[in-house]
Amino acid sequence: MDFSIPGPLQETLRSVRSFLLEEIYPLERDLLTRPFRELLPSLAAMREKVRAIGLFAPQAPREYGGAGLSFMEHALLSEELGRTPLGHFVFNCQAPDSGNMEILHEFATAPQKETWLKPLVAGKIRSCFSMTEPGFPGSNPVWMATTAVSDGDSYVINGNKWFTTAADGAAFAIVMAVTDPNADPHRRASQIIVPCETPGFAIVRNTPVMGHAGEDWLSHSEIVYKDVRVPRTNLLGREGAGFEIAQARLGSGRIHHCMRWIGICERSFDLLCERAARRDLAPGDKLGSRQTVQNWIAECRAEINAARLMVLQAAWKIDREGGKAAREEISLIKFYSADVLMHVIDRALQAHGALGMTDDTILSYFWRHERGARIYDGPDEVHKSVVARRILRRYGTF
Ligand SMILES: Cc1cc2nc3c(=O)[nH]c(=O)nc-3n(C[C@H](O)[C@H](O)[C@H](O)COP(=O)(O)OP(=O)(O)OC[C@H]3O[C@@H](n4cnc5c(N)ncnc54)[C@H](O)[C@@H]3O)c2cc1C
Repeated sequence: MDFSIPGPLQETLRSVRSFLLEEIYPLERDLLTRPFRELLPSLAAMREKVRAIGLFAPQAPREYGGAGLSFMEHALLSEELGRTPLGHFVFNCQAPDSGNMEILHEFATAPQKETWLKPLVAGKIRSCFSMTEPGFPGSNPVWMATTAVSDGDSYVINGNKWFTTAADGAAFAIVMAVTDPNADPHRRASQIIVPCETPGFAIVRNTPVMGHAGEDWLSHSEIVYKDVRVPRTNLLGREGAGFEIAQARLGSGRIHHCMRWIGICERSFDLLCERAARRDLAPGDKLGSRQTVQNWIAECRAEINAARLMVLQAAWKIDREGGKAAREEISLIKFYSADVLMHVIDRALQAHGALGMTDDTILSYFWRHERGARIYDGPDEVHKSVVARRILRRYGTF
């Protein structure tokens, strides 16, 4: 395995880091203290700068207006962008739009691509992915109550979803709904494109998360779908392929999430080290002189390095053998990187004392928003179970 970064890409990553440092970090104060919509004009201006350097929608294919980076190139860019919560948004590769771009590219019809994919890649609209329901376990994605009943040339959708990230202000949702309740569990549901202005689509609330309901892209909505009628041509892929498409969405997406988390780890690690190097416990007596803090620094460094190498190895395997062959690696990195992320943020926050609890540093934002890493895209326990069962199968059981 060779994880060296080619020279030109190293140059690009270096310039992205400077851009984030000079232009985007200063906007974080507003992110922490003002409603998200008030940031949109500044973010739009930054998006123009990203467009000018040719990295807007970096992972999207060139034919649809993206920068066409390879899987591995985007993984490394994702690591840089993860250093600030605004990085992916400014480059138009934020969740859930990036995942939606991927499935639209892979499964949408030509007219669907024209209507939804192109403006999404151009950053003219946003989207959301509506699968999880409050009354059903998201960890079991084949069991849900939302239905899409065929009626002439339409589907009529009824159901209740929540944690539909970024639905507030989105132009469309990709909705997972049961189209054939009698089919095999993995073929019951389909994915259907629903324009958010369709009658019957109603955002009930932006669900408060750790005390913040948020708004616009930075929110998780509860949505009621009441007799929402859309043309059958809004079906994404085949009828009954909802689960399959959801799996396709998550494979490569997990690499990008994990690399984003590594970026967050690196930023938190910088803050931990700066604090250890600058904070005096008594005149001339630095926090970093304490062995406990030295242990945190050394352990964090080891954990980040380990997580990063595991993610790169998984990406390397996906590149060579495809997502199916790398299923075990993908589950390993999902729970391991999420755990490292929690440890690193926690130690950085602890080193800041009371300051760590305030919104005067970005650590509180990471703490609030990234705890979900152990829950979304498959809770840790599910991934651990996947890994253990596959290993035990090799020992003749399961
Ligand atoms: C920040 C955030 C953003 C999200 N964005 C979206 C989105 O955009 N669209 C969307 O559709 N959904 C989204 N979700 C929802 C997410 O996909 C679900 O929360 C996730 O699938 C878990 O489902 P659940 O919350 O229903 O928990 P449940 O399925 O009820 O599970 C609860 C807990 O039970 C345990 N558990 C579950 N299964 C097992 C098992 N097999 N073995 C052992 N323990 C188990 C785990 O600890 C798990 O955390 C988001 C969630 C978060 C936190």
